[in-house]
Amino acid sequence: MKDTRRGAETLELASESLLAINKCGLQGKFKIWCLQFMLIPKLLWPLLVYDICSFTLEAIEAKINKYTRKWLGVPPGLSDVAMYCRKAKLKLPMKSILEEYKCGKARLLTMLEESDDPVIKTVQPSLKTGRKWKVTEALDEAKECLKMKEVIGQTQTDRRGLGSTTAKWWSKTEGKEKRDMIIDEIRNKEDSTRVQKAVQQPQQGQWTNWDTAIQRSLTWNDIWHMAPLKISFLIRSVYDLLPSNTNLVRWGKKDDPTCPLCQGRQTTEHVLSSCKVALSQGRYTWRHNRVLQELASVISTAKGEIHPSSTSSTVFTTEGGVKKWHGGLIPINTHRKGLLDGCDDWVVSADLPEWERHPGVIKKTALRPDIVIHSASTQQIIMVELTVPYESRMEEAHAFKEGKYLDLTKELKKDGYEAK
Ligand SMILES: [Zn+2]
Repeated sequence: MKDTRRGAETLELASESLLAINKCGLQGKFKIWCLQFMLIPKLLWPLLVYDICSFTLEAIEAKINKYTRKWLGVPPGLSDVAMYCRKAKLKLPMKSILEEYKCGKARLLTMLEESDDPVIKTVQPSLKTGRKWKVTEALDEAKECLKMKEVIGQTQTDRRGLGSTTAKWWSKTEGKEKRDMIIDEIRNKEDSTRVQKAVQQPQQGQWTNWDTAIQRSLTWNDIWHMAPLKISFLIRSVYDLLPSNTNLVRWGKKDDPTCPLCQGRQTTEHVLSSCKVALSQGRYTWRHNRVLQELASVISTAKGEIHPSSTSSTVFTTEGGVKKWHGGLIPINTHRKGLLDGCDDWVVSADLPEWERHPGVIKKTALRPDIVIHSASTQQIIMVELTVPYESRMEEAHAFKEGKYLDLTKELKKDGYEAK
């Protein structure tokens, strides 16, 4: 029997609790924390125990999302993809109550199906979740996907080397492991739906084209240490929701989308990295140099190991039926591990006023790499070039910089240097 009364009660409880959290005088991020760690677990329990349909859940999630956006300091137009997608370029540590509900129901049903209890075995277990989302269908789909994956075999999806990941196969797992695989598959399905949604959003889904950008995953710890408005800025910059003139025109707040500095069209990308006037005024150089300063100070403290410590292991052998342990250090790897290993006279110089120590070979050319790490004794030069492009132009910027220093690298090699 569908428990509509319980559903209505839970919805009411959710609204009241959200209102109460909203009224407390805490900062937005603390309110979200209360919601995620106190309210959602509290709400989930009755939702999983009673047959409450997914329609009620959607209503609850819509309410939660409304407040979450408010507390994050982002416009109401921000899609839920931004808040919950784990494949997005900016991954937030928040959980969607709808997804938790689906996973909870799926776990419950698999546990009932696999139960050894004779009574449960005789009554075909069924969970009612409404018409829109059916737990049995979701389970069947997840199982089919897992079987399909096994047929396809292990494929390479990222840059990790072949064989560095171990795949779990559906037919070879049992019990809890099998259930976990199903739950993971359901979560994957939810995430794929979100990515599909993002691809269709021309503005907020721009990140789906940033192939070379590395995902930034925020943890609660990161959020605790952020200035109050930083998280809002971060999210709005990733999803192009900052009040640039183009956006203000789109939102009907302004008539003129031009940049006050250069009279070009002012978009987020324009402000952050392509305004010619801002470039000539040194605004981008200031940002570039701040990043460079950080990099240079970190690199200057790094030292290579002259004799990289070898990894040791204990070897176990059997001779004529007698087992023997050869304890102690047995070097198995004496190769260079890091770029700086092998010598310790590294000198770090950077293209900054207080770091000017570029070696003579570089000084005599017209090029000034941002950071040069060089060792006189071993004739090695490592050049580091920093560039802060907009995410959609990372590949282009990389190719440009590589081309710029290609000749210098060749020249240094000709002079007998090992240049990287
Ligand atoms: Zn401009």
